[in-house]
Amino acid sequence: MGQPKLVVFDLDFTLWDCGGLWVDCADFPFQGGENGRVTDSSGRPLRLYDEVPLILKQLEAEGIPMGLASRTSQPSWARDLLKLLGISECFEYQEIFPGSKVAHFENLAAASDLHYSEMLFFDDEHRNVHEVGRMGVHCVEVNSGISMDVFESGLDLFL
Ligand SMILES: [Mg+2]
Repeated sequence: MGQPKLVVFDLDFTLWDCGGLWVDCADFPFQGGENGRVTDSSGRPLRLYDEVPLILKQLEAEGIPMGLASRTSQPSWARDLLKLLGISECFEYQEIFPGSKVAHFENLAAASDLHYSEMLFFDDEHRNVHEVGRMGVHCVEVNSGISMDVFESGLDLFL
């Protein structure tokens, strides 16, 4: 197999940490400062985990398409934060809506014309990994944010 044909990420506690909260529990509107820091309207820091920019850059360099699968109850807030953090353009596929992630992956398969077994998914919640894994997607459960090590352990599933 060699490598995944699509790498999909959850948002909350996988790519970002919203001051210890899910993005839909932060206080909207969000704002970006000149120093690149993003906060919610109560001043909570909304940030990517440290190695996320490196991971996205690596996938971009290798020409592997990226997608998002988030079940947040505030999709427009999540989209806003993706733009403020400067990573929205990285993701060719963005499935952001509440409910089981089975639906997110059905949409991803239809949009990408790929098989589930060609996809790699990172998520911090066991139930998502369990449900999506049963569809045949290669899944990695993330603890407290993705890192380069965790990312590479996912790529290793395709060796
Ligand atoms: Mg999550």
